[in-house]
Formats: sequence, structure tokens, C-alpha cells
Amino acid sequence: MQLTFHELNDKINIGNVDDGGMKMSEFKELYLSEYMPKSELVVEEHEVLLPKFPVIDVHTHFGSVLLGPDYEKFFDTEEVVKKFKSFGVKNIVNLDGKWGDELIRSLNKIHPHEDFIITFGSIDVTKLDDSDFESYVRKTLHESKERGIRGLKFLKDVSLVHKDKSGKYIAVDDPRLQVIWATAAELGLPVLIHIADPVAFFRPVDRFNERYEELSAHPNWSYHKPGMYTFEELLDMQENLLESNPDTTFIIAHCGSYPENLGYVARSLDRYPNMYVDIGARIAELGRQPYSARKFFIKYQDRILFATDVSPLNPCYPIYYRFLETWDEYFDYSDEPIPPQGRWKIYGIGLEDEVLEKVYYKNAEKVMRITEE
Ligand SMILES: [Zn+2]
Repeated sequence: MQLTFHELNDKINIGNVDDGGMKMSEFKELYLSEYMPKSELVVEEHEVLLPKFPVIDVHTHFGSVLLGPDYEKFFDTEEVVKKFKSFGVKNIVNLDGKWGDELIRSLNKIHPHEDFIITFGSIDVTKLDDSDFESYVRKTLHESKERGIRGLKFLKDVSLVHKDKSGKYIAVDDPRLQVIWATAAELGLPVLIHIADPVAFFRPVDRFNERYEELSAHPNWSYHKPGMYTFEELLDMQENLLESNPDTTFIIAHCGSYPENLGYVARSLDRYPNMYVDIGARIAELGRQPYSARKFFIKYQDRILFATDVSPLNPCYPIYYRFLETWDEYFDYSDEPIPPQGRWKIYGIGLEDEVLEKVYYKNAEKVMRITEE
């Protein structure tokens, strides 16, 4: 017979002197989902509502990616711009510009706030097998640039959702896509690309998976499925992409795809001068390894771009500012009662002004060539 933890402990405790404390059996068995411990640690806390320097957020979604096809009706651009500015943000990059009529629609929605909302476009990679794919890419990118895009964005769907005619998932380093990277370089458009996801999303979903709770809430986020590229294969493609296109500037989203392993990201940054990283939606990862993260930010202060990965409805800047600017210890990275990316807390990394200034806006200005004008 298998005993529960409580029954086992009560058995062990039989015969112990009653010391007035509670017995194991008086405790209620809890499901993991019910457990929400409150820290009793008493340490300094700082609310950082405004950043020390103006901020450019290079990773936001003001279009269909987070809000769905009717995204326009969910926010009033004027109000949202005011709200974002109230957090000390001087520019945001909307990555959902897409191409063609969708781009026009997206630009209409943000008008007349183009000075605040910078738009990145994209390419329909599902046209990859079309005989005129190359001319489609060149024409679209030239047109989109004329309409005002400042860069390109590719979602993780390139390799994790879309398949080519042969039924294989499109590899991000597929030579047929080369025309995109080459044209982007010609037109001076940086490419922000999301390649992998948290490494645990590619591992078996079992009791050892550190994102089990997150995956059980979003089962479709697991890529541990036959036929899908593995995490390691995606990283190989990422390196190949960087290596084969030295003239194209890549911002590899979510801390270079591998915030769990900053040593790996550091080696990539050393090897590929055309690589930058954004920190969008990854302070939970960075903040749980504050010593490594601080060293990483200091060493690669010219290559890291501030980002949050938010929609217009949920700006969450103060927590990023607290992580980057303070030495606060053991705080929540999210307002949700159960930390959504994993049951841990984070620590601030107290960056110096010189580093903050670059990460907050100077690197983004350099990459998007804003300072040249
Ligand atoms: Zn995103």
C-alpha cells in the first residue's frame, strides 16, 4: 500500500511526545495549483515607475499577433500613446506591420503617431515555393520601406508552424529565404526574429519539466512533438543564419533564444558581430540568475536592446525598470498569483547609468539608424 506524505509522517511520528504543535494529519493536502506562498522576507523594496533614461521598447504587438484580427477595436491609439509615454517610453516598435494591405491598415491605425510608434514589416514566407518568390520579396520590401517601415519582424512560426510544399517545416536558414536577408541588408532594415522558445517547451512534459504548470495551462506551447525541429536544431539554424548573412543586422528576440544559457548567447555574440538581442518577456529568466545576468549586461552593453513584448493593453514597464536599476532581492516578476513562467522570484541587477542608457535607447537608435537623421 502506498501511503501519502501525511500518513507516512504521522506513522513515523507515532510515539513522539505531544509538544503542542500541529500534527501532520491536521494539514490539508494541497494541489500544487492551490499553493501560493507569501514570502516573509523583509528586504528593501523600490517601486520604479520611471526609468532613469528614456526608453525605446523594440518589441511590442499593436496588431493581430496578440489582439487577433480585429485588433483595431481594442485600443485607442491616442490614449495608448499617452499611457506608454507616462512610463518614460520615447518610442515603441510595433512588430505587427506585416505587408501589403495589412501594412497599410496597421499604419492607418497608428496615424498620426508615427513619431512615437515605429513599424516593422514582414514577408509572407508561405509563398516560398512560388516561382516568383524572389521578386515578390524585393518588391514587397521596397514598397514597405517607402511606406515607412524601419525593420522586419519574423515570428517563430517560420520554423514551428509553416511548412513548405514538401510538407517539411521551413528551416529558418533555408537558402530560399536568403533573398529576404540580403534585401534587408541592402535597404538598411534590421531583422528582429523570434526563433526558439523557452528550452523547456522542447522537453518532455513531465514532472521534471520546469515549465510544467505553464505548459499545462497552454498545451499548444509544447514543441516536444515528432516532426518538429528540436531546440538544438533551431539554435544551429540560428547560427547558420547569422553566419551566412554578415551584412544583415539581426536582433534575436528573447535574449538570443536562450536566456537559460547566457554563456551560449555570449559565445554567439562574440562570434557574430551582426547579432543583437532583445530582452522581451525574459526578465523571469534573467532575474533568477542575477550574477550571470549582470556580467552579461556589462560585457554586452552595446548589443542588448530593451523590450517587453507587450500589447497596447498591458504595458508592464515598472518591473523591468526595477530589475535593471535596483538591487532589490527576491521579488515577483509578474502580478499573477502563481508566477506564470515558473515558481521562482527575481533579483535586481543594479546596472550603472552608462550601461542603462545604452540598453534603454542608444543601442536601439543605432540599430534602427535613428541617430543618423
Ligand atoms: Zn513577441
